Amino acid sequence: MPAIILDGNRISAAIREEVAAEVKQLAAAGLRPGLAAVLVGNDPASEIYVRNKVRTCEQLGIYSEKITPAATATTEELLRLVDELNRREEIDGILIQMPLPKQIDAKRVLLTVDPAKDVDGLHPMNVGLLATVRPGLVACTPAGCMEILRRSNIPVEGREAVVVGRSDLVGRPVAMLLTNANATVTVCHSRTRDLVEVCRRGEILVAAMGKAGFITREMVRPGATVIDVGINRVSTREELERFFPGDARRAAQFAEKGSTLVGDVHPAAAEVAGAITPVPGGVGPLTIAMLMVNTVKAANMRRGTNPGVKA
Ligand code: NAP
Repeated sequence: MPAIILDGNRISAAIREEVAAEVKQLAAAGLRPGLAAVLVGNDPASEIYVRNKVRTCEQLGIYSEKITPAATATTEELLRLVDELNRREEIDGILIQMPLPKQIDAKRVLLTVDPAKDVDGLHPMNVGLLATVRPGLVACTPAGCMEILRRSNIPVEGREAVVVGRSDLVGRPVAMLLTNANATVTVCHSRTRDLVEVCRRGEILVAAMGKAGFITREMVRPGATVIDVGINRVSTREELERFFPGDARRAAQFAEKGSTLVGDVHPAAAEVAGAITPVPGGVGPLTIAMLMVNTVKAANMRRGTNPGVKA
């Protein structure tokens, strides 16, 4: 039986609707959550990400500001900017779009963001709160993975979960969230031995490695829930054939745009998985939705209003 497709667009839409309702309630109490998005330079992909984030804020009634320092900005200039945003009452969330230009000390900049406004959940204070199971702001993509599981009624407690990847952005926080939800978690990385065997243990398998179609069907336990975080561009015919043989829709997309997207999981894994997130349209849409959740949560926590939006 083919896997159930876990539709990230549908789940994201439901979350955004809830956030919009919460924002409306807060507006009635005279409060408008605000997000500042800092985009340094003109990286085209980053510009698209920030544009989408700002647009989503507008749709949900969240105040947003896009701040665009030049590509030549210095670490000192950015630190001053973050300091200013930390002090501004109407700004609840500060987002520093990554990657930053090479001359900027990204770690120092992220460390300067007030943890109460760290809507990306990457400040060591928030990472520590997550590790010690205290309330805080949780990284958006990992939080999105958990929302997919929760809203799809996939049990986590007591189950074997395998996470492939241990980045600060995805692998580590998702492993902590799964542990906090009482799964038995194994974290894999580039030095893991017998990756195939370890992955096959997972009743829940999270792939966050940044390697196109690396997780093959042999690595998936039959019936497992597979959360594919990877986003990789397929731009050669050979790859298209390897990942999407006989898929007319993908071939048409490839012919039109010159590329298509594939996750870290080979699409054929859907033949053995019990449920799987598609790429695109799986984890991706959750990332922006959880940024909105975090912005409202930050507003509630910092301003002492009733936190209605749960993460
Ligand atoms: P990353 O920082 O490059 O980390 C990759 C991780 O995968 C590392 O821990 C690495 O191990 C591990 N890895 C690499 N090759 C491996 C192999 N052959 N076997 C086992 N483990 C291996 O990447 P990331 O930032 O976590 O992102 C991962 C993927 O998620 C990317 O495709 C990215 O585009 C995507 N992503 C998607 C969203 C979204 O909104 N959907 C958000 C963020 C990221 P080592 O630690 O040993 O090097």
